[in-house]
Amino acid sequence: MVPAIEPQHIHWNRRPRLLHARRQIEKIRDKTPGFTGVISDIGGPTANMYRMACKDPKVEAACRRPSCVFPEICPNLNTSHDDLIRLYRKVRETKGIKKVMVASGVRYDLAVESPEYIKELVTHHVGGYLKIAPEHTERGPLDKIMKPGIGAYNQFKRMFDAAAEQAGKKYYLIPYFIAAHPGTTDEDMMNLALWLKKNRYRADQVQTFLPSPMATATAMYHTGVNPLRGVRRGGSDKVEAIKGLRQRRLHKAFATTIPTIGRCCVKP
Ligand code: SF4
Repeated sequence: MVPAIEPQHIHWNRRPRLLHARRQIEKIRDKTPGFTGVISDIGGPTANMYRMACKDPKVEAACRRPSCVFPEICPNLNTSHDDLIRLYRKVRETKGIKKVMVASGVRYDLAVESPEYIKELVTHHVGGYLKIAPEHTERGPLDKIMKPGIGAYNQFKRMFDAAAEQAGKKYYLIPYFIAAHPGTTDEDMMNLALWLKKNRYRADQVQTFLPSPMATATAMYHTGVNPLRGVRRGGSDKVEAIKGLRQRRLHKAFATTIPTIGRCCVKP
């Protein structure tokens, strides 16, 4: 995988960076034993935030928001995909490179702001499937994960399908979801399960939350409070953590069982 994401505080000229990216690709081409000309993932943790940064360094220095893209995309964020599109093209032009893939990590609420990016992605950088992580359909867990609502995913899917049709390809999105994330109620899982069923998605695209080091969700899981909303003695925002084996299994079962039973239980 070749990460295309860049630290946000670095300011740099376009040409040297594109040349540097090209040299990196040439290095991979020349030094990887048995290299076939296929870059399997030029994405990174977030595939499409290359060179996105705050428009004003002074505002950025004073900013205390935990995210530039949640609860909505900040108007001060430069969301242009132009440099990323230029980068993709430069890499594709490199001698000996046959195919450059983006396998995952597309931040779809940003991608929908650039139909040109979606077209470029679908036409040249998807090989049948693109994994994407809406994580959930309900606001309870989504607010804790700092992800947009499922409407943004639906919009991206429409644009993705249209671009695939235009390119004459049969490509599919594989959405991934999470069960038992802090802040998820039984009803949230039921609603996710019904959405999965209605959209004919498979149950193996649902993973159960496990606390991992250095994650905000882990802090929520262990403390039962939401650090994203500020922590105050006696006044913190409470978050229900799904800890008991029985409830964790129940949340997973909602998502794995309901989508497999008869369509009669799905509202039209
Ligand atoms: S949240 Fe907005 S103001 Fe703050 S650093 Fe991000 S883009 Fe700049």
